[in-house]
Amino acid sequence: MTILYSLIPTPFTMKTFNNTFTTLENFGHSMRAPSYRLRPKTPDEIYEAFQLARKSGLTVTLRGAGRSYNDAALNGGGIVLDLSAMNRIVEWDAATGFVCCEAGVTLEQLWHKVLPDGWWPPVVSGTMATTLGGCLGANIHGKNNFRMGTIGEHVTEFTALLPTGAQVTCSPSLNADLFYSMISGLGMLGVITMVRLKMKKVESGLLEVHAWPTRTIEEHLNSLLEGAPNYDYIVGWLDTITVGHGQIHAANYVHDDPDPAKMQVRYQTLPDRLFGVMPKSLLHYFMTPFVNDLGWWGINNAKYIASLRRHTFRQSHAAFHFLLDYVPDWELSSGRAGLIQYQSFVPKETALQAWTTILARTKKFGLPSYLGVTKRHRPDNFLLTHAVDGFSLALDFKVRRREEMSKMLQEFDQIILEAGGRFYFAKNSETTPKTALAFLGEETVSKFKKLKKRTDPDGLLESDLYRRVFG
Ligand SMILES: Cc1cc2nc3c(=O)[nH]c(=O)nc-3n(C[C@H](O)[C@H](O)[C@H](O)COP(=O)(O)OP(=O)(O)OC[C@H]3O[C@@H](n4cnc5c(N)ncnc54)[C@H](O)[C@@H]3O)c2cc1C
Repeated sequence: MTILYSLIPTPFTMKTFNNTFTTLENFGHSMRAPSYRLRPKTPDEIYEAFQLARKSGLTVTLRGAGRSYNDAALNGGGIVLDLSAMNRIVEWDAATGFVCCEAGVTLEQLWHKVLPDGWWPPVVSGTMATTLGGCLGANIHGKNNFRMGTIGEHVTEFTALLPTGAQVTCSPSLNADLFYSMISGLGMLGVITMVRLKMKKVESGLLEVHAWPTRTIEEHLNSLLEGAPNYDYIVGWLDTITVGHGQIHAANYVHDDPDPAKMQVRYQTLPDRLFGVMPKSLLHYFMTPFVNDLGWWGINNAKYIASLRRHTFRQSHAAFHFLLDYVPDWELSSGRAGLIQYQSFVPKETALQAWTTILARTKKFGLPSYLGVTKRHRPDNFLLTHAVDGFSLALDFKVRRREEMSKMLQEFDQIILEAGGRFYFAKNSETTPKTALAFLGEETVSKFKKLKKRTDPDGLLESDLYRRVFG
């Protein structure tokens, strides 16, 4: 590939550019893409990268922490702009809860900054490694989606750099069309560089968690539906091997324990050694032998038996939200072929039928999911929205018999579409253009493409996901 290096100003010179060629992966290590990885530190450097792409005929994908389960932040053969170095918290007002951050700031940096002052990010993902830019690109939801909506609903303003070099400021009232489409827009309309958002006031470093078992999928969904109005957060675990068994965790903010020590990062932070001895970074090696049908059947049954007692306990914010971060690199335990996730969002009226059918289909294919997580949702106004007035079910699959797995997931898509459901572009790796068109609708897809023509007339921004779904 010939690059017109001489025309390129620093810092992306010929030598540095060539040295950036590397293979990037999705979170589950099941998808790979060799690409040029550039790490701009300023909007000017982002613009330089766009110029470089234009001159070299390469496309550009934005990447935050690369925690998407699929190819949203991959760009085979092209440039990947890794925005993780743009990670300054520029302004924090502990009196009002407004924070202004560069887009590469992670949720971990954010809660470390705000919790000691009595605030918490209003919406977080199941890992704190994600960046604000990535969270807005996908418009993430948390375990409180039914109450607080998506992260985009808490953004008061953001600044973005378009591939044309134009800088735009967007809010619900200023450039509103870009506000509602760049949030959820998968980095395909421009680069969000600065974000201003409002934190949630909390009075304690703890949440009060209520846990109870559910015996059938129907009971599980009813628990989510009826339980949600009484709690700040609700999430369910479904045993997807012994189908039906499950457990609900529902949590409320604590108001009667204003011990400031519990809001300190060191109280919340998870120890990095197990029993004070074994580094947790080694844990995934010990998990690997159990990541098979029998192993997970045993784990799920043990978990269900342990969950039979209805109980209440107090847990730190970090422990409740970021359980998956307890075991670093846990996804590696799925083995060399990696891990994928399939998350569907289905209206409350049709979810039971759809998911009963899907889980039966996993048995027919002999490809059970090892982990099923459910949440309660409400719709939102963002252009490529995934949410519905209903529930989501996220199914983790160890990748094997890839062609059959792919066929099975295509069958799932049909079942979900017939149920009036939607899909999440940060998770699913098999969504086809036909499925995307069916759930988004022609009007939305054409609006998205028109906006893209306006913000990115040369079509510089492309990702493997974009080519797969909208190409
Ligand atoms: C263990 C785990 C748990 C998770 N739990 C949840 C959950 O509870 N809820 C949920 O909603 N998601 C969840 N996710 C998914 C995750 O939150 C999203 O994939 C999120 O987008 C990842 O953020 P990131 O910084 O890694 O972004 P990346 O994966 O690097 O990028 C995500 C998208 O954002 C775009 N993007 C990145 N930076 C910018 C920018 N500056 N401007 C514009 N676009 C940009 C990228 O091009 C890409 O399309 C989870 C993921 C993991 C691994």
